[in-house]
Amino acid sequence: MSIRRRRRVLVTGGAGFIGSHLVEYLLAQGNEVLCVDNFFTGSKENILPFMNQPYFELIRHDVAMPLFVEVDDIYHLACPASPIHYQINPVQTVKTSVMGTINMLGLAKRTGARLLLASTSEVYGEPEVHPQREDYWGNVNPIGPRSCYDEGKRVAETLCMDYHRQHGVQVKIARLFNTYGPRMAEYDGRVVSNFVIQALKNEPITIYGKGEQTRSFGYVDDLLCGLVALLEDTEPGFAGPVNLGNPHEITVMELAQEIIRQTGSSSEIMHLPLPQDDPTRRKPDITLAKEKLDWQPATTLQEGIAQTIAYFKPRVLGKSRTLA
Ligand code: NAD
Ligand code: UDP
Repeated sequence: MSIRRRRRVLVTGGAGFIGSHLVEYLLAQGNEVLCVDNFFTGSKENILPFMNQPYFELIRHDVAMPLFVEVDDIYHLACPASPIHYQINPVQTVKTSVMGTINMLGLAKRTGARLLLASTSEVYGEPEVHPQREDYWGNVNPIGPRSCYDEGKRVAETLCMDYHRQHGVQVKIARLFNTYGPRMAEYDGRVVSNFVIQALKNEPITIYGKGEQTRSFGYVDDLLCGLVALLEDTEPGFAGPVNLGNPHEITVMELAQEIIRQTGSSSEIMHLPLPQDDPTRRKPDITLAKEKLDWQPATTLQEGIAQTIAYFKPRVLGKSRTLA
């Protein structure tokens, strides 16, 4: 009689926004999940529902330090993702991306685990090609305030490909575009959470610059299906990178208007200076994800924003009642 062993899946950054959704999904699929996080931007609250599950395990650990565990799969997400967070300690951000990815690749090499890197559309920098395809090499400032994140992820991708070619490690590189949804940290400064919270409080909506810059926002449930499909992909030698995002492109001003509409807010628009090197446009070409993974997003912006508002509403309004 053969007994099927549960897969042991490591999720680095598992207490963060995307990571906690991934942990939830992997547990529901019957996997044993090991969450590694240093709680820099993640929170215990995000993983509280899993704490009493027998196949969930938590290790407080900084991925920039070596880690010795036995696993079958690694989803490597650990890295602050919001500009205000990754710029607090840019040297640590580079270490997290570079040392963290070396450590996780070393772990994959020793254990034979498959590894997926959560890379980013930021590797395209200020893109001269639109929409962005995976074969576009990008236009990144190597010495600016966003470089610790952008270049850190570019080196992480390089490391994945070198471990793949040199050591035969099975890697997959996902380039995530702007992702949003429940469990975004309340004050992590990203545009969707900022606008939703401001709108719910009827406070001014802070638009950086004129709001003509574009982004393409992907709902978290869609994105995590893409991550799983990519790691599970069995094409020999296929490492990616693969864009994962929603090609529906809108301006930041249009996003503000949609959030004001859905919340029925009386918020006004307030313009603030545009941060240095803020990309002017961003839209994924997802042809490769469709072809290789049969994946495409299913959630419209309207639906995803509604879910996000529903998540933040009791938190934001609940708090102001407590303070009153
Ligand atoms: P997040 O900040 O919510 O989550 C990151 C998690 O990593 C947090 O729990 C944090 O505590 C943890 N972490 C950070 N540094 C660590 C370290 N040195 N050791 C251990 N844990 C560490 O961000 P997110 O939005 O969930 O992003 C997850 C991943 O996806 C990141 O790698 C990010 O670069 C990538 N990504 C996210 C987006 C997006 O729009 N959310 C877009 C592109 C790429
Ligand atoms: N942004 C904004 N107001 C905010 C936060 C962000 O106008 O309160 C803009 C920001 O300048 C950028 C876009 O929204 O053009 C997306 O910002 P975010 O930090 O969410 O992600 P990025 O794509 O810059 O990494």
